Amino acid sequence: MIECVLLGSGGMMPMPYRFLVSLAVRLEGRTLLFDCGEGTQIPIKMTKIGIKPIRDIFISHLHADHVTGLPGMLMMLNQSEPDGPVRVHGPRGIADYVDAQQRTLAFERDYPLEVNELHGAEGVALAEDGFEVVFRQLRHRTRCLGYAVIERDQPGRFSVERARELGVPEGPAWGRLQRGETVTLETGGEIRPDQVLGPPRAGRKIVYASDTRPCRNLVELARGADLFFVEGMFEDELADDANQKGHQTVVQAAKQAREAGVARAVLFHFSPRYRDEDLARLGAQARAEFPAIEIGRDLARFEIPVRP
Ligand SMILES: [Zn+2]
Ligand SMILES: [Zn+2]
Repeated sequence: MIECVLLGSGGMMPMPYRFLVSLAVRLEGRTLLFDCGEGTQIPIKMTKIGIKPIRDIFISHLHADHVTGLPGMLMMLNQSEPDGPVRVHGPRGIADYVDAQQRTLAFERDYPLEVNELHGAEGVALAEDGFEVVFRQLRHRTRCLGYAVIERDQPGRFSVERARELGVPEGPAWGRLQRGETVTLETGGEIRPDQVLGPPRAGRKIVYASDTRPCRNLVELARGADLFFVEGMFEDELADDANQKGHQTVVQAAKQAREAGVARAVLFHFSPRYRDEDLARLGAQARAEFPAIEIGRDLARFEIPVRP
């Protein structure tokens, strides 16, 4: 199962009614954390996510609302005694930032910490057996990266009927076929996985993009996503303001979600000027452009079903 928890949906500063931006993506027993605004520890403690499975933290850019929660997070990770290295991925400057925090705050750290500075307009931040995380540069006031978690293609559905017809006994042989191995029957015959599996299923894709003006890279990053977390900081009437500040409106976000052909989009990084009751208005503006877009709320959970 892949599950996402929007830990915080606010931009600029933490408010009594809204946490700062951060997204947890849970897959394969791990938690990938995207951005770590001031106070991100609090929503984590309000959920069942836990600290220990967090081993990779991806930072979009070096603006305070996205990184000031990082030192506290690295300190808290020490208490969970991670059983391997923790990695912080981010744009140029992230290594300096982490280094300065460690030196000046002199916090204890017993686990290995690696910092992965990402260069270029696009690339791979993390490659694992079951998935990878890629990045693309967005259009903000400073270098800012959007990320996509892309699951590797999954084997097709296992046909119990076909397996029985072919005389494969229920048990370990079924599991081996599902993992793509050929099995030999007691009768000496060989059964290949493609005889009992349907066509491979495309892996799932989750995209995290904050902060940015509308841009081609954003659409390309989001192309075909199952779930697209996208900055929508302002309502449509403040488009000039948004552009000047290196941000975008909910309507611009919705147009790009439609162009990218995503299945579902979630708006976040709202300006503190909007109270929760105002957000329905922003949601309605966005849905007029693209019906499958919604307002992201703090602590909202999203399960991403396996593709058919
Ligand atoms: Zn921001
Ligand atoms: Zn920013």
